[in-house]
Amino acid sequence: MAGHQHGIMGEAAYLSLPLWEHKCWEAQEESIPHYCFFPDLHLMYQRQPEKEEELSPYTVMPNGMVIPHGPCDEKYTLCIFSHCHSRDVTAYVITYYMTKIVELLMKESYEEAAKFAGTFAHFLQDSCCPGHVANNYLLAKLMPPPPGKYWHIHRVIDAWPCELKDIQRVKPRLLGTSIDEAVFNLGIEYDKAVGSALEKICPSIQAVYDEDNGKMQRIVNEWCGTGTHIVASAWHTAFSLANNRFEECERNMLERIHLSDVIPVDEMADEYFYELNGKHIKDLDAPKPPYLYGSDPPRSKGSKDPYGFQALNNSACDGKGNTIPLSLRVLEGDRLVEKVFVQGLAAAGTSKVVFQVNGDIHKELRVLAGLHSRMGPEGAAVFEVYLDEGDYTVPLRSAELTPEGPAHEFVIPLQRDCRTIMLLTEGSPDAHVIWADPVLIRRGEARK
Ligand SMILES: [Zn+2]
Repeated sequence: MAGHQHGIMGEAAYLSLPLWEHKCWEAQEESIPHYCFFPDLHLMYQRQPEKEEELSPYTVMPNGMVIPHGPCDEKYTLCIFSHCHSRDVTAYVITYYMTKIVELLMKESYEEAAKFAGTFAHFLQDSCCPGHVANNYLLAKLMPPPPGKYWHIHRVIDAWPCELKDIQRVKPRLLGTSIDEAVFNLGIEYDKAVGSALEKICPSIQAVYDEDNGKMQRIVNEWCGTGTHIVASAWHTAFSLANNRFEECERNMLERIHLSDVIPVDEMADEYFYELNGKHIKDLDAPKPPYLYGSDPPRSKGSKDPYGFQALNNSACDGKGNTIPLSLRVLEGDRLVEKVFVQGLAAAGTSKVVFQVNGDIHKELRVLAGLHSRMGPEGAAVFEVYLDEGDYTVPLRSAELTPEGPAHEFVIPLQRDCRTIMLLTEGSPDAHVIWADPVLIRRGEARK
Protein backbone atom coordinates (compact mmCIF):
# COMPACT_ATOMS: atom_id res chain seq x y z
CA MET A 1 0.00 0.00 0.00
CA ALA A 2 1.34 3.42 -0.79
CA GLY A 3 2.53 5.56 2.09
CA HIS A 4 -0.37 7.94 1.94
CA GLN A 5 -2.98 5.53 3.33
CA HIS A 6 -0.48 4.15 5.88
CA GLY A 7 0.27 7.57 7.35
CA ILE A 8 -3.38 8.61 7.56
CA MET A 9 -4.37 5.33 9.22
CA GLY A 10 -1.46 5.64 11.66
CA GLU A 11 -2.55 9.14 12.60
CA ALA A 12 -6.18 8.07 12.97
CA ALA A 13 -5.11 5.13 15.18
CA TYR A 14 -3.03 7.44 17.36
CA LEU A 15 -5.95 9.86 17.74
CA SER A 16 -8.27 7.07 18.85
CA LEU A 17 -6.04 5.98 21.78
CA PRO A 18 -7.00 6.92 25.34
CA LEU A 19 -5.50 10.16 26.69
CA TRP A 20 -2.97 8.53 29.02
CA GLU A 21 -1.49 6.68 26.04
CA HIS A 22 -1.29 9.96 24.05
CA LYS A 23 0.73 11.44 26.88
CA CYS A 24 3.37 8.70 26.53
CA TRP A 25 3.65 9.30 22.80
CA GLU A 26 3.22 13.10 22.89
CA ALA A 27 6.68 13.70 21.43
CA GLN A 28 6.08 11.04 18.75
CA GLU A 29 2.75 12.36 17.48
CA GLU A 30 4.23 14.10 14.43
CA SER A 31 6.47 11.14 13.51
CA ILE A 32 4.03 8.23 13.87
CA PRO A 33 2.63 8.55 10.31
CA HIS A 34 6.23 8.44 9.03
CA TYR A 35 7.08 5.33 11.13
CA CYS A 36 4.09 3.57 9.54
CA PHE A 37 5.97 3.89 6.25
CA PHE A 38 9.18 2.11 7.43
CA PRO A 39 8.62 -1.23 5.59
CA ASP A 40 8.06 0.63 2.28
CA LEU A 41 11.15 2.79 2.95
CA HIS A 42 13.13 -0.40 3.53
CA LEU A 43 12.08 -1.59 0.06
CA MET A 44 13.13 1.74 -1.42
CA TYR A 45 16.52 1.84 0.33
CA GLN A 46 17.52 -1.81 0.02
CA ARG A 47 20.43 -0.90 -2.29
CA GLN A 48 21.64 1.97 -0.12
CA PRO A 49 23.33 0.22 2.83
CA GLU A 50 23.72 3.25 5.10
CA LYS A 51 20.00 4.13 4.80
CA GLU A 52 18.94 0.50 5.07
CA GLU A 53 20.98 0.18 8.27
CA GLU A 54 18.81 2.80 9.94
CA LEU A 55 15.64 0.88 9.16
CA SER A 56 16.77 -2.73 9.64
CA PRO A 57 16.53 -2.72 13.45
CA TYR A 58 12.78 -2.20 13.03
CA THR A 59 11.98 -4.03 9.81
CA VAL A 60 14.19 -7.15 10.01
CA MET A 61 12.93 -9.79 12.43
CA PRO A 62 15.12 -12.13 14.55
CA ASN A 63 14.64 -14.93 11.97
CA GLY A 64 16.35 -12.70 9.39
CA MET A 65 13.19 -12.06 7.38
CA VAL A 66 11.93 -8.56 6.62
CA ILE A 67 8.44 -7.86 7.94
CA PRO A 68 6.04 -8.80 5.11
CA HIS A 69 3.60 -6.41 3.43
CA GLY A 70 0.46 -8.28 4.39
CA PRO A 71 -0.34 -12.00 4.41
CA CYS A 72 2.17 -14.33 2.74
CA ASP A 73 2.97 -18.02 2.36
CA GLU A 74 5.46 -19.97 4.50
CA LYS A 75 8.36 -18.77 2.30
CA TYR A 76 7.30 -15.17 2.90
CA THR A 77 6.08 -14.76 -0.68
CA LEU A 78 3.23 -12.27 -0.44
CA CYS A 79 -0.30 -13.44 -1.23
CA ILE A 80 -0.12 -10.89 -4.07
CA PHE A 81 2.05 -13.48 -5.88
CA SER A 82 1.22 -16.73 -4.10
CA HIS A 83 -1.92 -18.67 -3.29
CA CYS A 84 -2.00 -19.41 0.40
CA HIS A 85 -1.63 -17.54 3.61
CA SER A 86 0.60 -19.01 6.32
CA ARG A 87 -0.82 -18.60 9.78
CA ASP A 88 2.56 -19.53 11.24
CA VAL A 89 4.19 -16.50 9.62
CA THR A 90 1.38 -14.25 10.82
CA ALA A 91 1.72 -15.62 14.36
CA TYR A 92 5.49 -15.08 14.24
CA VAL A 93 5.18 -11.45 13.11
CA ILE A 94 2.45 -10.66 15.64
CA THR A 95 4.30 -12.34 18.53
CA TYR A 96 7.63 -10.66 17.76
CA TYR A 97 6.26 -7.13 17.37
CA MET A 98 3.75 -7.23 20.23
CA THR A 99 6.43 -8.53 22.62
CA LYS A 100 8.96 -5.94 21.47
CA ILE A 101 6.55 -3.00 21.71
CA VAL A 102 5.42 -4.02 25.22
CA GLU A 103 9.05 -4.40 26.40
CA LEU A 104 9.98 -0.96 25.10
CA LEU A 105 6.90 0.70 26.60
CA MET A 106 7.71 -0.93 29.96
CA LYS A 107 11.17 0.69 29.76
CA GLU A 108 9.52 3.97 28.79
CA SER A 109 11.54 3.96 25.54
CA TYR A 110 8.66 5.70 23.85
CA GLU A 111 10.43 6.72 20.65
CA GLU A 112 11.78 3.22 19.99
CA ALA A 113 8.38 1.72 20.85
CA ALA A 114 6.71 4.07 18.36
CA LYS A 115 9.13 3.06 15.59
CA PHE A 116 8.38 -0.64 16.13
CA ALA A 117 4.67 0.16 16.49
CA GLY A 118 4.67 2.02 13.16
CA THR A 119 6.51 -0.81 11.39
CA PHE A 120 4.06 -3.37 12.80
CA ALA A 121 1.13 -1.11 11.86
CA HIS A 122 2.27 -1.21 8.24
CA PHE A 123 1.94 -5.01 8.18
CA LEU A 124 -1.55 -4.88 9.71
CA GLN A 125 -2.64 -2.05 7.40
CA ASP A 126 -1.42 -3.80 4.24
CA SER A 127 -3.40 -6.87 5.35
CA CYS A 128 -6.61 -4.80 5.26
CA CYS A 129 -6.01 -3.68 1.65
CA PRO A 130 -7.77 -5.73 -1.08
CA GLY A 131 -4.75 -5.51 -3.40
CA HIS A 132 -2.57 -7.38 -0.87
CA VAL A 133 -4.66 -10.37 0.16
CA ALA A 134 -5.08 -12.42 -3.02
CA ASN A 135 -3.06 -13.54 -5.99
CA ASN A 136 -3.00 -10.62 -8.40
CA TYR A 137 -2.41 -12.84 -11.46
CA LEU A 138 -5.61 -14.68 -10.64
CA LEU A 139 -7.47 -11.39 -10.13
CA ALA A 140 -6.40 -10.26 -13.61
CA LYS A 141 -7.91 -13.46 -15.02
CA LEU A 142 -11.08 -13.34 -12.94
CA MET A 143 -11.80 -9.69 -13.65
CA PRO A 144 -10.24 -8.54 -16.94
CA PRO A 145 -10.75 -4.83 -17.71
CA PRO A 146 -13.45 -3.77 -20.17
CA PRO A 147 -12.41 -3.74 -23.88
CA GLY A 148 -10.09 -0.85 -24.73
CA LYS A 149 -9.30 -0.17 -21.06
CA TYR A 150 -6.34 -0.93 -18.80
CA TRP A 151 -5.27 0.00 -15.28
CA HIS A 152 -2.41 -1.19 -13.06
CA ILE A 153 -5.07 -2.36 -10.67
CA HIS A 154 -2.80 -3.13 -7.69
CA ARG A 155 -1.31 0.36 -7.82
CA VAL A 156 -4.68 2.07 -8.30
CA ILE A 157 -6.08 0.30 -5.23
CA ASP A 158 -2.91 0.90 -3.22
CA ALA A 159 -2.49 4.55 -4.05
CA TRP A 160 -6.10 5.67 -3.83
CA PRO A 161 -6.14 8.80 -1.65
CA CYS A 162 -7.95 8.95 1.66
CA GLU A 163 -8.45 11.69 4.20
CA LEU A 164 -8.27 11.63 7.96
CA LYS A 165 -11.74 13.15 8.33
CA ASP A 166 -13.32 10.30 6.32
CA ILE A 167 -11.94 7.44 8.42
CA GLN A 168 -14.44 6.35 10.96
CA ARG A 169 -12.82 6.23 14.36
CA VAL A 170 -13.89 3.53 16.76
CA LYS A 171 -12.77 2.74 20.27
CA PRO A 172 -9.72 0.45 20.28
CA ARG A 173 -10.32 -2.98 21.76
CA LEU A 174 -8.26 -4.63 24.50
CA LEU A 175 -7.04 -7.92 23.03
CA GLY A 176 -5.68 -9.61 26.15
CA THR A 177 -4.22 -9.28 29.62
CA SER A 178 -1.13 -11.32 28.68
CA ILE A 179 1.07 -11.39 25.58
CA ASP A 180 -0.20 -14.90 24.76
CA GLU A 181 -3.81 -13.82 24.89
CA ALA A 182 -3.14 -10.63 22.94
CA VAL A 183 -1.39 -12.64 20.22
CA PHE A 184 -4.25 -15.16 20.08
CA ASN A 185 -6.97 -12.52 19.83
CA LEU A 186 -5.01 -10.31 17.44
CA GLY A 187 -4.67 -13.42 15.22
CA ILE A 188 -8.47 -13.73 15.17
CA GLU A 189 -8.88 -10.01 14.39
CA TYR A 190 -6.20 -10.32 11.70
CA ASP A 191 -7.99 -13.22 9.96
CA LYS A 192 -11.21 -11.21 10.02
CA ALA A 193 -9.46 -8.13 8.59
CA VAL A 194 -7.99 -10.22 5.76
CA GLY A 195 -11.45 -11.73 5.17
CA SER A 196 -12.96 -8.27 5.02
CA ALA A 197 -10.28 -7.20 2.49
CA LEU A 198 -11.05 -10.29 0.38
CA GLU A 199 -14.73 -9.29 0.27
CA LYS A 200 -13.73 -5.88 -1.10
CA ILE A 201 -11.62 -7.13 -4.01
CA CYS A 202 -14.38 -7.56 -6.61
CA PRO A 203 -16.38 -4.44 -5.64
CA SER A 204 -13.26 -2.26 -5.69
CA ILE A 205 -11.99 -3.56 -9.04
CA GLN A 206 -15.50 -3.17 -10.48
CA ALA A 207 -15.70 0.41 -9.15
CA VAL A 208 -12.40 1.22 -10.92
CA TYR A 209 -13.66 -0.36 -14.19
CA ASP A 210 -16.94 1.54 -13.89
CA GLU A 211 -14.93 4.73 -13.18
CA ASP A 212 -17.25 5.21 -10.21
CA ASN A 213 -14.93 7.25 -7.99
CA GLY A 214 -17.52 7.87 -5.31
CA LYS A 215 -18.13 4.17 -4.81
CA MET A 216 -14.40 3.43 -4.82
CA GLN A 217 -13.82 6.14 -2.20
CA ARG A 218 -16.44 4.61 0.10
CA ILE A 219 -14.75 1.20 -0.18
CA VAL A 220 -11.29 2.70 0.44
CA ASN A 221 -12.59 4.56 3.51
CA GLU A 222 -13.99 1.30 4.83
CA TRP A 223 -10.73 -0.64 4.61
CA CYS A 224 -8.83 2.32 6.04
CA GLY A 225 -11.30 2.17 8.96
CA THR A 226 -10.56 -1.53 9.47
CA GLY A 227 -6.80 -0.83 9.30
CA THR A 228 -7.16 1.97 11.84
CA HIS A 229 -9.14 -0.14 14.28
CA ILE A 230 -6.85 -3.17 14.24
CA VAL A 231 -3.74 -0.99 14.64
CA ALA A 232 -5.29 1.10 17.43
CA SER A 233 -6.35 -2.12 19.22
CA ALA A 234 -2.83 -3.59 18.95
CA TRP A 235 -1.22 -0.37 20.24
CA HIS A 236 -3.78 0.10 23.02
CA THR A 237 -3.28 -3.52 24.10
CA ALA A 238 0.51 -3.00 24.17
CA PHE A 239 0.14 0.10 26.39
CA SER A 240 -2.30 -1.74 28.67
CA LEU A 241 0.04 -4.75 29.01
CA ALA A 242 3.11 -2.60 29.62
CA ASN A 243 1.33 -0.68 32.39
CA ASN A 244 -0.76 -3.57 33.68
CA ARG A 245 -3.74 -1.27 33.33
CA PHE A 246 -7.03 -2.82 32.23
CA GLU A 247 -10.56 -1.43 32.44
CA GLU A 248 -13.06 -3.80 34.01
CA CYS A 249 -15.45 -3.59 31.04
CA GLU A 250 -12.63 -4.33 28.60
CA ARG A 251 -11.57 -7.34 30.64
CA ASN A 252 -15.15 -8.64 30.65
CA MET A 253 -15.22 -8.59 26.86
CA LEU A 254 -12.45 -11.20 26.85
CA GLU A 255 -14.39 -13.76 28.89
CA ARG A 256 -15.89 -15.65 25.94
CA ILE A 257 -14.90 -16.22 22.36
CA HIS A 258 -17.72 -17.14 20.01
CA LEU A 259 -16.27 -19.60 17.54
CA SER A 260 -18.84 -18.63 14.94
CA ASP A 261 -16.95 -15.29 14.75
CA VAL A 262 -13.62 -17.05 14.21
CA ILE A 263 -12.32 -18.18 10.82
CA PRO A 264 -11.61 -21.96 10.95
CA VAL A 265 -8.17 -23.26 9.97
CA ASP A 266 -9.71 -26.10 8.01
CA GLU A 267 -13.16 -27.26 7.01
CA MET A 268 -14.66 -29.72 4.61
CA ALA A 269 -17.97 -31.29 3.81
CA ASP A 270 -18.38 -34.91 2.80
CA GLU A 271 -14.85 -36.15 3.09
CA TYR A 272 -14.40 -39.84 3.70
CA PHE A 273 -11.43 -39.78 6.00
CA TYR A 274 -10.19 -37.23 8.44
CA GLU A 275 -6.89 -35.78 9.44
CA LEU A 276 -6.00 -33.40 12.21
CA ASN A 277 -2.68 -31.56 12.01
CA GLY A 278 -1.47 -34.04 9.38
CA LYS A 279 -2.29 -37.14 11.44
CA HIS A 280 -4.92 -39.58 10.26
CA ILE A 281 -7.75 -39.79 12.76
CA LYS A 282 -10.34 -42.15 11.46
CA ASP A 283 -12.34 -43.49 8.56
CA LEU A 284 -16.01 -42.84 8.66
CA ASP A 285 -18.39 -45.58 9.67
CA ALA A 286 -21.01 -44.40 7.20
CA PRO A 287 -21.33 -46.38 3.95
CA LYS A 288 -19.29 -44.75 1.20
CA PRO A 289 -20.83 -44.04 -2.19
CA PRO A 290 -18.65 -45.51 -4.95
CA TYR A 291 -15.94 -43.24 -6.20
CA LEU A 292 -12.85 -44.10 -8.17
CA TYR A 293 -10.17 -41.50 -7.73
CA GLY A 294 -8.72 -39.98 -4.59
CA SER A 295 -8.47 -36.58 -6.25
CA ASP A 296 -12.10 -36.61 -7.28
CA PRO A 297 -14.16 -34.95 -4.56
CA PRO A 298 -16.43 -37.73 -3.44
CA ARG A 299 -19.15 -35.28 -2.56
CA SER A 300 -19.92 -34.80 -6.27
CA LYS A 301 -21.03 -38.43 -6.55
CA GLY A 302 -23.46 -39.38 -3.88
CA SER A 303 -24.48 -36.39 -1.87
CA LYS A 304 -27.55 -34.21 -2.06
CA ASP A 305 -26.77 -31.91 0.85
CA PRO A 306 -27.40 -28.18 0.27
CA TYR A 307 -24.17 -26.93 1.89
CA GLY A 308 -20.94 -26.14 0.06
CA PHE A 309 -17.47 -27.12 1.17
CA GLN A 310 -17.64 -24.83 4.18
CA ALA A 311 -19.96 -24.43 7.13
CA LEU A 312 -22.37 -21.49 7.08
CA ASN A 313 -21.93 -18.92 9.86
CA ASN A 314 -24.81 -17.75 12.04
CA SER A 315 -27.56 -19.12 9.80
CA ALA A 316 -28.64 -22.33 8.09
CA CYS A 317 -29.94 -22.62 4.53
CA ASP A 318 -33.13 -24.05 3.02
CA GLY A 319 -31.39 -25.41 -0.10
CA LYS A 320 -33.44 -23.09 -2.31
CA GLY A 321 -31.13 -20.11 -2.14
CA ASN A 322 -32.31 -18.66 1.18
CA THR A 323 -30.70 -18.46 4.60
CA ILE A 324 -32.86 -19.36 7.58
CA PRO A 325 -32.31 -18.94 11.34
CA LEU A 326 -30.52 -21.67 13.28
CA SER A 327 -32.96 -23.65 15.40
CA LEU A 328 -32.82 -26.75 17.59
CA ARG A 329 -35.10 -28.65 19.90
CA VAL A 330 -33.60 -28.41 23.37
CA LEU A 331 -34.56 -29.60 26.84
CA GLU A 332 -35.57 -26.88 29.29
CA GLY A 333 -36.11 -28.71 32.54
CA ASP A 334 -38.02 -31.71 31.27
CA ARG A 335 -39.80 -29.81 28.50
CA LEU A 336 -38.68 -30.07 24.88
CA VAL A 337 -38.78 -26.60 23.31
CA GLU A 338 -37.69 -25.17 20.00
CA LYS A 339 -35.01 -22.53 20.34
CA VAL A 340 -33.59 -20.10 17.77
CA PHE A 341 -29.88 -19.21 17.93
CA VAL A 342 -28.17 -16.10 16.63
CA GLN A 343 -24.71 -17.64 16.70
CA GLY A 344 -23.53 -20.97 15.44
CA LEU A 345 -22.55 -23.04 12.43
CA ALA A 346 -24.64 -25.05 9.98
CA ALA A 347 -23.13 -27.71 7.74
CA ALA A 348 -23.68 -30.81 5.67
CA GLY A 349 -24.56 -34.12 7.36
CA THR A 350 -20.95 -35.24 7.03
CA SER A 351 -18.61 -32.39 7.84
CA LYS A 352 -15.65 -31.15 9.80
CA VAL A 353 -14.63 -27.73 11.07
CA VAL A 354 -11.23 -27.18 12.72
CA PHE A 355 -10.27 -24.25 14.96
CA GLN A 356 -7.01 -23.17 16.54
CA VAL A 357 -7.34 -22.67 20.29
CA ASN A 358 -4.93 -22.09 23.17
CA GLY A 359 -5.58 -24.14 26.31
CA ASP A 360 -3.36 -21.76 28.29
CA ILE A 361 -5.97 -19.06 27.71
CA HIS A 362 -9.25 -20.96 27.53
CA LYS A 363 -10.38 -23.64 29.93
CA GLU A 364 -13.53 -24.96 28.33
CA LEU A 365 -15.43 -25.43 25.08
CA ARG A 366 -19.21 -25.31 25.24
CA VAL A 367 -21.49 -26.03 22.32
CA LEU A 368 -24.98 -27.33 21.67
CA ALA A 369 -25.21 -29.86 18.83
CA GLY A 370 -28.20 -31.11 16.92
CA LEU A 371 -30.13 -31.26 13.68
CA HIS A 372 -32.05 -28.25 12.41
CA SER A 373 -35.57 -28.47 13.84
CA ARG A 374 -37.34 -26.97 10.81
CA MET A 375 -35.83 -28.88 7.93
CA GLY A 376 -38.15 -31.87 8.01
CA PRO A 377 -38.25 -34.87 10.32
CA GLU A 378 -35.77 -36.90 8.25
CA GLY A 379 -32.05 -37.13 8.77
CA ALA A 380 -29.77 -38.17 11.59
CA ALA A 381 -26.17 -37.49 12.60
CA VAL A 382 -23.60 -38.28 15.27
CA PHE A 383 -21.56 -35.32 16.54
CA GLU A 384 -17.96 -35.65 17.74
CA VAL A 385 -15.39 -33.25 19.17
CA TYR A 386 -11.67 -34.07 18.88
CA LEU A 387 -9.02 -32.19 20.82
CA ASP A 388 -5.41 -32.15 19.72
CA GLU A 389 -3.50 -32.23 22.99
CA GLY A 390 -0.35 -33.94 21.78
CA ASP A 391 -1.91 -37.39 22.05
CA TYR A 392 -5.43 -37.52 20.82
CA THR A 393 -8.00 -37.86 23.47
CA VAL A 394 -10.92 -40.19 22.88
CA PRO A 395 -13.46 -38.21 20.91
CA LEU A 396 -16.41 -36.90 22.82
CA ARG A 397 -19.41 -38.18 21.01
CA SER A 398 -23.18 -37.62 21.04
CA ALA A 399 -25.76 -40.31 20.46
CA GLU A 400 -27.36 -40.34 17.02
CA LEU A 401 -29.39 -37.13 16.95
CA THR A 402 -32.47 -36.30 14.88
CA PRO A 403 -34.41 -33.07 14.15
CA GLU A 404 -36.90 -34.16 16.84
CA GLY A 405 -34.21 -33.45 19.45
CA PRO A 406 -33.18 -32.98 22.10
CA ALA A 407 -29.88 -31.32 21.18
CA HIS A 408 -26.72 -32.59 22.89
CA GLU A 409 -24.76 -30.22 25.10
CA PHE A 410 -20.98 -30.57 25.05
CA VAL A 411 -19.09 -29.04 27.99
CA ILE A 412 -15.48 -29.98 27.40
CA PRO A 413 -12.53 -29.01 29.62
CA LEU A 414 -9.43 -28.04 27.63
CA GLN A 415 -5.96 -29.11 28.76
CA ARG A 416 -3.33 -26.38 28.80
CA ASP A 417 -1.53 -27.94 25.83
CA CYS A 418 -4.65 -28.06 23.67
CA ARG A 419 -4.03 -26.13 20.44
CA THR A 420 -6.61 -27.50 17.98
CA ILE A 421 -10.20 -28.64 18.17
CA MET A 422 -12.16 -30.40 15.49
CA LEU A 423 -15.94 -30.47 15.25
CA LEU A 424 -16.98 -33.47 13.21
CA THR A 425 -20.28 -34.95 12.12
CA GLU A 426 -21.25 -38.16 10.41
CA GLY A 427 -24.77 -38.05 9.12
CA SER A 428 -27.25 -38.68 6.38
CA PRO A 429 -26.97 -36.59 3.19
CA ASP A 430 -30.21 -34.73 3.93
CA ALA A 431 -29.18 -33.72 7.47
CA HIS A 432 -28.67 -30.05 8.39
CA VAL A 433 -26.22 -30.25 11.28
CA ILE A 434 -26.07 -27.32 13.70
CA TRP A 435 -23.37 -26.36 16.21
CA ALA A 436 -25.19 -23.69 18.23
CA ASP A 437 -23.43 -21.11 20.45
CA PRO A 438 -19.93 -22.61 20.25
CA VAL A 439 -17.91 -20.68 22.86
CA LEU A 440 -14.50 -20.84 24.49
CA ILE A 441 -14.55 -19.89 28.16
CA ARG A 442 -11.55 -17.98 29.52
CA ARG A 443 -9.29 -19.41 32.20
CA GLY A 444 -9.56 -16.36 34.51
CA GLU A 445 -6.22 -14.61 34.54
CA ALA A 446 -4.36 -16.07 31.57
CA ARG A 447 -0.83 -17.30 32.29
CA LYS A 448 1.86 -15.29 30.54
ZN1 LIG B 1 3.54 -2.13 2.13
